[in-house]
Amino acid sequence: MFQNLSDRLQDVFKKLKGKGKLTESDIKEAMREVRIALLEADVNFQVVKDFINKVREKSVGQEILQSLTPGQQVIKIVRDELQELMGGTKSELVFKKTPGVVMLVGLQGAGKTTMAAKLALRYKKKNKKPLLVAADIYRPAAIKQLQVLGEQLGVEVFTMGDKNSPVDICKLGLEHAKKNGYDLVIFDTAGRLHIDERLMDELEGIVKVANPDEILLVVDAMTGQDAVNVAKSFNEKLDITGVILTKLDGDTRGGAALSIKAVTGKPIKLVGIGEKIEDLDVFHPDRMASRILG
Ligand code: GDP
Repeated sequence: MFQNLSDRLQDVFKKLKGKGKLTESDIKEAMREVRIALLEADVNFQVVKDFINKVREKSVGQEILQSLTPGQQVIKIVRDELQELMGGTKSELVFKKTPGVVMLVGLQGAGKTTMAAKLALRYKKKNKKPLLVAADIYRPAAIKQLQVLGEQLGVEVFTMGDKNSPVDICKLGLEHAKKNGYDLVIFDTAGRLHIDERLMDELEGIVKVANPDEILLVVDAMTGQDAVNVAKSFNEKLDITGVILTKLDGDTRGGAALSIKAVTGKPIKLVGIGEKIEDLDVFHPDRMASRILG
């Protein structure tokens, strides 16, 4: 994960540390290299620009340049700013009512159905009683896929086949959960290959009837800036509460993880780190920043 970015930044900072005393022009040169490394990692252009400006401003202060370990201090500034860029601290899912309602949205193939099962398992392990609701009526295998996963987990899957509207399915699924003592409802909604008006209208309809506590956009980390653009569009329409970044176990360059919070204002809350249903983690900006800097 982020290997290339990590290697590049470590090279820059090895040089800085090796220098002892630093001048403004050393910082300038280092920031030029950090900028290129971030752009090559597919981080959003404006995000890179703002990031570099902040780090440069903090680094050229006299107390840093004249300190005994200026290289170390600049690395700390970069580390702290990277952490800020990714949201600062971890963001938990927040449920204000019972049953709590999570709505997963996103494009086809992003990993929604898999994530629905991963979330169900996560909360089952916390002694909650989750209900999965199969509202993706367009992708032919989605309902079956969720049923198979539900069976594997021992979690009930609410389905009405593919002849009812997703809005009705979610409405009745929620009623079913309320009547039967579930504490968490997870909607697996439909995706499309591209964002279109009909999909958004349908998702807005679900939000209206179910008033979810969490509207989480699932995006594929491997798609870089496309994931960021998707997040921007979904957020403008649905006012999402957070993002789930999947496929972080793959060879992703880092652009999505580093840009999403700054571009959308919404935090990455969870990450998918593999195809198995246990492969779910909370997103820790601090650990991620440390990992990138090695
Ligand atoms: P959906 O169309 O959004 O419901 O996507 P699916 O849940 O069907 O996932 C699409 C593909 O991505 C499947 O082959 C999943 O196994 C795979 N997938 C989902 N999440 C992850 C992940 O975190 N890591 C990896 N490597 N694969 C994932």
